[in-house]
Amino acid sequence: MNISTHDVLLVGGGGAGLRAAIAAAESNESMNIGVVSKVYPMRSHTVSAEGGTAAVMRDDDNLDLHAYDTIRGSDFLADQDVVEAFVGEARDEVIQLEHWGCPWSRDPDGRVSVRAFGGMSTKRTLYAADKTGFHMLHALFQTSLKYNEITRYDEWFVTSLLVDDGQVKGVSALNLRSGVVHAIPAKSVIICTGGGGRVFPFTTNAAIKTGDGMALAYRAGCPLKDMEFVQYHPTGLPGTGILMTEASRGEGGYMINNKGDRYLSEYVPGKMELGPRDILSRSFVHEMRAGRTFEDAQGNYVHLDLRHLGEKVIDEKLPFVRELTRNYVGIDPVKEPIPVRPVVHYMMGGVHTDINGSTPIAGLYAAGEAACVSMNGANRLGSNSLSELLVFGARAGKSAAAFALEQDIPSVSVLEALAQDEQQKIESRFAKSGERTEKIATIRQEMQNTMEQGAGIFRKEEDLKKTCETIRELKERYQNVGLDDQSSVYNTEITTALELGYTLDVAETLAHSALLREESRGSHSRSDFEKRDDERYLKHSLAYQTDDDPRIDYLPVAMTRWEPEERKY
Ligand SMILES: Cc1cc2nc3c(=O)[nH]c(=O)nc-3n(C[C@H](O)[C@H](O)[C@H](O)COP(=O)(O)OP(=O)(O)OC[C@H]3O[C@@H](n4cnc5c(N)ncnc54)[C@H](O)[C@@H]3O)c2cc1C
Repeated sequence: MNISTHDVLLVGGGGAGLRAAIAAAESNESMNIGVVSKVYPMRSHTVSAEGGTAAVMRDDDNLDLHAYDTIRGSDFLADQDVVEAFVGEARDEVIQLEHWGCPWSRDPDGRVSVRAFGGMSTKRTLYAADKTGFHMLHALFQTSLKYNEITRYDEWFVTSLLVDDGQVKGVSALNLRSGVVHAIPAKSVIICTGGGGRVFPFTTNAAIKTGDGMALAYRAGCPLKDMEFVQYHPTGLPGTGILMTEASRGEGGYMINNKGDRYLSEYVPGKMELGPRDILSRSFVHEMRAGRTFEDAQGNYVHLDLRHLGEKVIDEKLPFVRELTRNYVGIDPVKEPIPVRPVVHYMMGGVHTDINGSTPIAGLYAAGEAACVSMNGANRLGSNSLSELLVFGARAGKSAAAFALEQDIPSVSVLEALAQDEQQKIESRFAKSGERTEKIATIRQEMQNTMEQGAGIFRKEEDLKKTCETIRELKERYQNVGLDDQSSVYNTEITTALELGYTLDVAETLAHSALLREESRGSHSRSDFEKRDDERYLKHSLAYQTDDDPRIDYLPVAMTRWEPEERKY
């Protein structure tokens, strides 16, 4: 294929990437846009989102309430100007998505249905049964096909950002079909590569979620913000980590311990099953330590009981939950409770951006889960993320397009030479030789285990220090990975090895930021510092790459109208 120079280049064809591409295309008819994705866009993780997307839709709701819920949910670490922009624009975005073909579920009176979600004061989560992400991504994908100015590079894997003179000039990407690395020149680049849950052993995240874009930005000198905040979702299936959507509690499901009690009355009496995810996940650990969970070969679990909802509601509102439990645990939730336990789900941190998606590197933008625009702070509320990728995907697309209009065309020959270097580097880097005896799978497993042990639901100094050390050793051992498969066409061993490098970078920023945050806030829970400490830590962390361990710096939180208060539910 002929590679042209793009005005705006998206790395990622999920919800954020496609929304940004459409915004860029709409901003100016002459825009030339590229979308690079390591998988066919409809296979991006957005497709698997189930429960819904939040926006103020009803008379009993208002923007301030949505903003307050989000800020309280974030344990006061969200930037309040960002949250205000978010709640203000989310409604128009979801209405527009309907006009693009997204079939929101509806009430009998014809209005768009809304359901309850954790940490939200009222029902404000729109949904399309429990396959919301599939329908949203489909609507975005189909809409993107309308624009001739969008060129897609499906199954191209980005290996680095091409930075020249302090400014991003494109990316180098491996065409998986040919095995050749090319330069894709661009006046601006938007990172929309999603999260990195695969840093942990047990996650709802697809195998492709390896934090690639976070690592690419980090290596190019851009800081990663608030990386210590990792969300555990309280209801994953033991063994596989497959998500039982929060919508099952939104529709009225109960969490039950081995005494038959709805144990959340002890921890979040005001909200019960609709408490925020961080508190529910910690409650599970307390129950487990008190011997009140069930146990089998796959470990400890509690019950998510939907039986009282009845077959009709389950089939209408939660058909996917029934399908998944029948297929993966062989039980029917109409008749039996579902075994569940907390599972790594989402990264609040990511590439540091401002409210318009710009990063500190000229020409580089980010949006979606890969970015940290500082909307979710220390804990994201369920269903805010899909709306976030619409609002901030659109904002990043518009700002990158405006930036591109002011730029000269980058020098293609310089970039091609950089891409050729990259190809050689990759080939020699993983060539099989006597010393290259390390295995990808071994290093990955050790990384995931140390992350779970040191940087899991509860953390403390001693364990975090050990995790930091182990990650450093694993990074050294990673240099000795050799590949058995030296072929070029669809060589998944190469991409897996590159992904392992990305996850190791993400893991190092996460563990070091967590070690230095000596307080408990939102999802970051230190058993050696149990209280939130606004005096010392009401600030964002920024992790910068150095030749040694990452350097951690801090940034103030933007406050507008909400004073920090004790977070109670
Ligand atoms: C099971 C599950 C259920 C969820 N349910 C909900 C929900 O109900 N409501 C809600 O608000 N949120 C939900 N979330 C969270 C939400 O779905 C995600 O945060 C969001 O979809 C991320 O979108 P994204 O566009 O940022 O990234 P993704 O959809 O993950 O897309 C990333 C893109 O980047 C590309 N990419 C990555 N690396 C490279 C590379 N090196 N080179 C080229 N391309 C690359 C991929 O190919 C892909 O196209 C859920 C998440 C999961 C895992």
